[in-house]
Amino acid sequence: MAPPSMVDDPGNVKVVVRCRAFVRREREKGTQCLIRMDPATQKTTLLAPSDFDSNPNTRKVYEDKEFIFDKSFWSHDEDDPHYAHQEDVYRSFGEEFLDHNFDGYHTCIFAYGQTGSGKSYTMMGTPEQPGLIPRTCEELFDRIHQEPSPNTNYHVHVSYFEVYNEHVRDLLTPRTNPPIYLKIRESQTEGVYVQGLTEAEVKSYADVERLMRLGDMSRTTASTKMNDTSSRSHAVFTIQLKQIQHSLLSDQTIERCARMRLVDLAGSERAKSTEATGQRLKEGGQINRSLTTLGRVIAALADPRRHAKGRRPRDIVPYRDSVLTWLLKDSLGGNSKTAMVACIAPSDYEETLSTLRYADQAK
Ligand code: ADP
Repeated sequence: MAPPSMVDDPGNVKVVVRCRAFVRREREKGTQCLIRMDPATQKTTLLAPSDFDSNPNTRKVYEDKEFIFDKSFWSHDEDDPHYAHQEDVYRSFGEEFLDHNFDGYHTCIFAYGQTGSGKSYTMMGTPEQPGLIPRTCEELFDRIHQEPSPNTNYHVHVSYFEVYNEHVRDLLTPRTNPPIYLKIRESQTEGVYVQGLTEAEVKSYADVERLMRLGDMSRTTASTKMNDTSSRSHAVFTIQLKQIQHSLLSDQTIERCARMRLVDLAGSERAKSTEATGQRLKEGGQINRSLTTLGRVIAALADPRRHAKGRRPRDIVPYRDSVLTWLLKDSLGGNSKTAMVACIAPSDYEETLSTLRYADQAK
């Protein structure tokens, strides 16, 4: 059974922000923490750095800025009673999203932010501190195995691809040199899809774990001045859940398909802050293009004016302006639920301001 007809609901976009702990480099330098979060109001304040550059020629203005998002996760100081653990981030919307998938709808979660702000930690995490992707997969199989329904069959498939310089590469096949890029196709029955992409059937969480590891090893990484292993690509992990329900009273079967897209976006830093040149600069432009388009798509979906009488929403959402948004079209808008986790570093005023502004326009 196809999901009920697409009804755009502006309440389906959630925007949350997460501030990470200092990394060693910051601790050693005695860096100032520029973020405050108020758990009662969810207000996030970016403080003007006390040692800001007062050179009038730079014309930079540093001042305190306040933002309010659906949720603010304070993962900076573990001794704080409001410290947000990986589990807290998952519980705040991961569970709800999984319910939505079992009801037959698509979901999409993005991690946005500059390199080193905690995107991979939030999405994938570590073996000791698993993030949203492993938690979602584990709970998916817990639900399937714990609540076996004699008349329902479950089929779960996983794919993992990256979008790099507007090209799509399968992360579940061995790397080749030169890389093999896959084509994007659109059909009436399947919608937008990647031709030839591996869609591996998984029967247990252990199967998924093996594929996550395989894909992570294969991700495109290149060194930049900011972070040696920073990823320059958008990594899209997809779980496809198909439920086939057999009617007890007749021969009829009801099929429900839902897709969970979990996306670790490329670093949002502007090319100049990594002093990138040549190929790297080109990558920066492409990364910014898909991030800008994604921001516009989410902002358009969240815009209540779009729901005004007489507007045809799907016509004005610029899905086709980047490969990433085109591919995610079916998982954004309609009855899908979307969440963006804006990841911020506690010490970088300008990059953090640009992340908070990006997240703000997506609200
Ligand atoms: P990104 O994917 O945005 O480049 P990472 O997820 O790799 O950033 O995070 C950068 C560093 O900060 C890593 O060493 C990571 O383990 C650490 N880190 C990120 N978020 C947290 C957090 N919430 N708590 C503790 N450490 C974190």
